Amino acid sequence: MSDFEVVQVPARSDNFAVLVHDPQSGATLSIDAPEADAIETVLNERGWKLSHILVTHKHFDHIEGIPALQAAYDCEVVGPEASASETGMYDRTVKDGDTFRWAGAEIRVIATPGHTLDHITYWLPEEKLVFAADLIFSLGCGRVIEGDHDMMWTSILKVRDLPDDATLYCGHEYTLANGQFALTVEPDNEALKARVAEVEALREKDKPTLPTTIAQEKATNPFLRADEPALMAAIEMENASPAKVFAEIRTRKDKF
Ligand SMILES: [Zn+2]
Repeated sequence: MSDFEVVQVPARSDNFAVLVHDPQSGATLSIDAPEADAIETVLNERGWKLSHILVTHKHFDHIEGIPALQAAYDCEVVGPEASASETGMYDRTVKDGDTFRWAGAEIRVIATPGHTLDHITYWLPEEKLVFAADLIFSLGCGRVIEGDHDMMWTSILKVRDLPDDATLYCGHEYTLANGQFALTVEPDNEALKARVAEVEALREKDKPTLPTTIAQEKATNPFLRADEPALMAAIEMENASPAKVFAEIRTRKDKF
């Protein structure tokens, strides 16, 4: 087990890059590259050099910083095989089930399509760190843009099955708005009400609401609770399949 330092970097208006630094080797990776300047500022403050960028998906707000960071650091860019030719930005590609080592740590690649077809999640089982980008947000999930609702639900289940105490990092600070929607789905969920109160207090001080944990999202995030009897009852879909319940909630959120 490593002693990595993990730092979220707010970028653009509501994105996060996440830096993982290994003090022993000096290696530093960035999960996605939303804004080169924001990432470089944090690297300089800490005296870190970027060795790798791990890309989760092809959306511009996750890759736009790659060219400038590559020019500054000569770092290796790892990205999903499914969008390699479209972006033309990856030095090395990965796909579902791939495992590689970085600074001695195992990194597993989990295909999590739905938001986009190329979307992948990076999972470090020894450190219990999950980087789910635009698959799951705190109290929310990504818009289903390229895939369909069944595909997105299946992807969410893969990450929901990770250990409860895993730390979950996400691509955007959307928690407050997500919480307001989540309360319309499960107004009587006490864990959700407490989490929204906590989120409101954090955002008032302009503090991030992330990272979160798998356990916290299982208790509060409607998109991870589509097969939960309490949620199904709350929206009067007790007899529907979880995938249908998920689709209903996602459709409501799109209109919220
Ligand atoms: Zn995206």
